[in-house]
Amino acid sequence: MARRVAVVTGSNKGVGFGIVRALCQKFDGDVILTARDEGRGKQAVDALKQERLSPLFHQLDITDHNSVVRLRDFLKEKYGGLDVLVNNAAISYTGSSTAPVSEQAKVTLKTNFDATLDVCEVLFPLLRPHARVSNVSSFVSQMSLAKCSDALRSKFTNPNLRMDELVSLLKQFVKSAQTDQHQAQGFSNSSYAMSKVGVTVMSIIQQRELDAKGAEDIVVNACCPGYVDTDMSSHRGPLTIDQGAVTPTYCALLPQNVHSPRGKFIRNKKIAQW
Ligand code: NDP
Repeated sequence: MARRVAVVTGSNKGVGFGIVRALCQKFDGDVILTARDEGRGKQAVDALKQERLSPLFHQLDITDHNSVVRLRDFLKEKYGGLDVLVNNAAISYTGSSTAPVSEQAKVTLKTNFDATLDVCEVLFPLLRPHARVSNVSSFVSQMSLAKCSDALRSKFTNPNLRMDELVSLLKQFVKSAQTDQHQAQGFSNSSYAMSKVGVTVMSIIQQRELDAKGAEDIVVNACCPGYVDTDMSSHRGPLTIDQGAVTPTYCALLPQNVHSPRGKFIRNKKIAQW
């Protein structure tokens, strides 16, 4: 039987690094730590080796389609499939950033939403029966949803929303932010939070699409790591990276033939309201 394999995006530091550490301890198979920068990635692998763990490294910049395809080809060649995918990589402007919302919207959505979706589109064909996908979203996706207009909220919570419709809604957000019209059009003001609305809804749609295709026990969930002490939170979060890794890892290791959660938003290992 082919060796099982797990991939974590953006895992040279922060929550992703904690997820790799947890998977190395709990997942029966190879765990691939990926990073856009090879030096930072290899350093992270070495740090885990010091703990007697054995992650492998592969370069991955989620915004670089060729890099995603190279990872796909490597997985196909070496493992013939994929068993766990944790989409953790993301960026966020700091609260004190003076970059205009037009820029923040474009850059943030490109990485957190478009690139995450691209990774899924390229890697999902490799998912084997019983594969698990853990898409790291955020509690701010719920807060942002609450701030959207009623009309938009009903679209983002429509259980029949299609992926192409979600993509156009988020394109509309970026477009309207170019002229500072996004709030007038019913979106929330935070580009990061809107990108995470995208990740949560993307996960719900992906589960529905996989089920419709008759995928054999492939489970996708969106999750929140909690407020974690990382560079992204400017080290304000109270949780350690290992504590932040708990819920994303739980989603990545849901047992075979699990009935629930599937296509949900998970906080503290529990289904949260969407
Ligand atoms: P960090 O900023 O500490 O780490 C982010 C990771 O993503 C880094 O490894 C970074 O690499 C990587 N990354 C960024 N862009 C790319 C890219 N284009 N391709 C590949 N990797 C990339 O963030 P956190 O660990 O805090 O966040 C991890 C996840 O958790 C994110 O999805 C975040 O949105 C989510 N989250 C975090 C919360 C928190 O309180 N920290 C709260 C809720 C959600 P590099 O080192 O090269 O920049």
